[in-house]
Amino acid sequence: MKIETIRHSLAHILAAAVQELYPGTKFGIGPEIENGFYYDFDLPRALTPTELPKIEKKMRELIKQSVKFEKKIVSKNEAKKLFKDQPYKLELIDELPEAKVFVYVCGKFTDLCCGPHIKNSKEIPLDSFKLTKIAGAYWRGNEKNPMLTRIYGVAFKTKKELDNHLKVEAEAEKRDHRVLGQKLELFGFDEEVGAGLPLWHPKGTILRKIIEDYLYKELTSQGYQWIVSPHIGKLDLWKTSGHWELYRENMYSPIKIDEEEYMLKPMNCPFHVKIYKTKIRSYKELPIKYAELGTVYRYEKSGVLHGLVRVRGFTQDDAHIWCPPEQLSAELTKLLKHGFKILKTFGFKDCDIYLSTRPEKYAGTLKDWEKATNVLKYVLKKLKLKYQLDPGSGVFYGPKIDIKIKDSLGRPWQCTTIQVDFNLPEKFNMNYITKKGQKQRPIMIHRALIGSIERFIGVLLEHYSGSLPLWLMPVQVLVIPVGSRHEKYGKTIKEQLSNEGIRVGLKDENETVSKKIREGEIQKIPYLLVVGDKEMKTKSVRVRSKNKDLGIMKLTNFIEKIKIEIENKKPK
Ligand SMILES: [Zn+2]
Ligand SMILES: [Zn+2]
Repeated sequence: MKIETIRHSLAHILAAAVQELYPGTKFGIGPEIENGFYYDFDLPRALTPTELPKIEKKMRELIKQSVKFEKKIVSKNEAKKLFKDQPYKLELIDELPEAKVFVYVCGKFTDLCCGPHIKNSKEIPLDSFKLTKIAGAYWRGNEKNPMLTRIYGVAFKTKKELDNHLKVEAEAEKRDHRVLGQKLELFGFDEEVGAGLPLWHPKGTILRKIIEDYLYKELTSQGYQWIVSPHIGKLDLWKTSGHWELYRENMYSPIKIDEEEYMLKPMNCPFHVKIYKTKIRSYKELPIKYAELGTVYRYEKSGVLHGLVRVRGFTQDDAHIWCPPEQLSAELTKLLKHGFKILKTFGFKDCDIYLSTRPEKYAGTLKDWEKATNVLKYVLKKLKLKYQLDPGSGVFYGPKIDIKIKDSLGRPWQCTTIQVDFNLPEKFNMNYITKKGQKQRPIMIHRALIGSIERFIGVLLEHYSGSLPLWLMPVQVLVIPVGSRHEKYGKTIKEQLSNEGIRVGLKDENETVSKKIREGEIQKIPYLLVVGDKEMKTKSVRVRSKNKDLGIMKLTNFIEKIKIEIENKKPK
């Protein structure tokens, strides 16, 4: 039996249990979701999480009774009679386009549903599901509707899978990047600014800058040229590019300036194309690679916004490569190799690779799509990279390779994307002059290696639980004078480290040493240097790292050690 079917059937069992325990409940909907299921209820009284075990127990009782799941087809009128006390179901029945209505009967509980379901509740393993939480959810996701109580559950095929999932979830909660971002003073959100629009605080901005500088150096060494483009552009530009036709649902409404309509950019591509087109290009110049840390704005429903990993404005490490068709596979090969090198530097070794093919809405010819897809397949095979096909998930202008990195908890995160495009060069009439002096269309590659800076930082924080590798930490060292008479010595140490390019802070508040150490550790600062009489006399420091005392070290030795560690960009 498919786990999805079991999850959906558990949603019905949950509703059946709630019906018995809380008479008078009105039922919303209860779908199967990733890892589990939920059901929305309008309960006669408020529910607390402490009641979940009771509901779970009732569910197990029902499952043990071997209740059947029976599908019935009734007329709309019959359905209305069946659900006469259920206003939410009546609303759904009214909207059904057909005269026939599917219902599922499961013991004493009947639901509006087309299935599929299991045949009998005994097919559900008793020990591999769990109710996890309660949340408020507006009926049909609309805030003008009543707020219902949503009960979530998780379900797996085996108890082992369930236990593993619960363990990962508990660990993930501890390292939630939204909590870490606040604790480490990196970023935040403000209701008055708007949802999905992060504010980067000084320390978070240092972290961004370190990542940006690293990318700048890496891409420059690979022959990329850096450009900058505006945040808005005329609507006509987006009509030419095809975004207005095929990507509009992700774009914000036009802004009127001097009687003309402008759009906030959801992508950087058309601007890069315009820079390419300012000159006649020769085959000798190709490949041309333009890179930009481009901030784009895309519409996301408020319900899916999540910290830094799902936002409405973000900065892509975007680049476009134009090359002749015969260079395509070589360029893709270089690109993938370089991408993996960068991910590895940040400490990500495991990943899942996907090849996404033509979606329903697409531009260009079938022949071009096939050609591009085949080149991508060829390159993946040549590099001996294992991948999965993701049919229909390509972008409207071409097929793509997506790389999902796996964090330390084994969770996948969408990160790198490499997209082949035969379409934009056509739309914008892009050319280069071949060796024989003829005009030809270049092929365009769109690619982002880390994806977006925002999302990547969110993933990094969760991967490392906030203790980032030394080279990335906004504050690498904290000097802690034991008493006020050691402050002057502390200050000279701070200056010396700072002169060596090390990011260092000084904790000179009038507090106990243990309190200062604790604060430094809460901030996850990699090295704490405690200095008192003994250290002052011997020009040394007492080094603490990862909650451990590493003993006394000469300051010069410490500087040497830490500089090597930073230079090596050693992932933890
Ligand atoms: Zn159902
Ligand atoms: Zn692009």
